[in-house]
Amino acid sequence: MSELAAATLDARTCTQCAGAIDSYETRTVDQRPLCTRCADALAAALAAEKRLDGRLPMALAAGLTGAMLGAGIWAAVAVFARREVGVVALLVGWLAGAGVKRGAGKARGTFLQLGAAALSLVGLVTAKYFTFAHFFAEKVRIEQGISLGPFDPSILAAFPVAFHATFSIFDVLWALLAARAAWKGPAPSKVSLQRT
Ligand SMILES: [Zn+2]
Repeated sequence: MSELAAATLDARTCTQCAGAIDSYETRTVDQRPLCTRCADALAAALAAEKRLDGRLPMALAAGLTGAMLGAGIWAAVAVFARREVGVVALLVGWLAGAGVKRGAGKARGTFLQLGAAALSLVGLVTAKYFTFAHFFAEKVRIEQGISLGPFDPSILAAFPVAFHATFSIFDVLWALLAARAAWKGPAPSKVSLQRT
């Protein structure tokens, strides 16, 4: 086989499945040629990403589940370490994003990303609440010998005050990192089909 023939053959080989490309097929992805079957599959996948269909409630429910799981881990780590370990915020964000992605089925996009980011923040506040509730109840138990439930009115009343009083630049930083991690979860594919 001449070099030219080899190059021609190479140019008409699908970069995804290595199958032969029909002469009429002009679609490429990142300037790499695709066979009709792969191009159709990619076009269908990209179209499916844009269709939210009725997946939003399921996506948000799964994202909330992820965020709450992350919040539980954050609170458990904080109780164990006896201080907040900020980097766990990344896990809360990642779990929120992964939950939304899973619940969304094939759908991807800004709506879902915004939902994931918002849920990651809900997760962070929830984690902070349970961490606070644990140490508040512990203090009351030691000082007054009284056992408080996690939703005791005195804890609910004291939390916003404590939240405000202890809020720092690190909270902003961890919130941003969590939201960014969540945002990536249901992000749309970066590839696009072109015609040459
Ligand atoms: Zn192919």
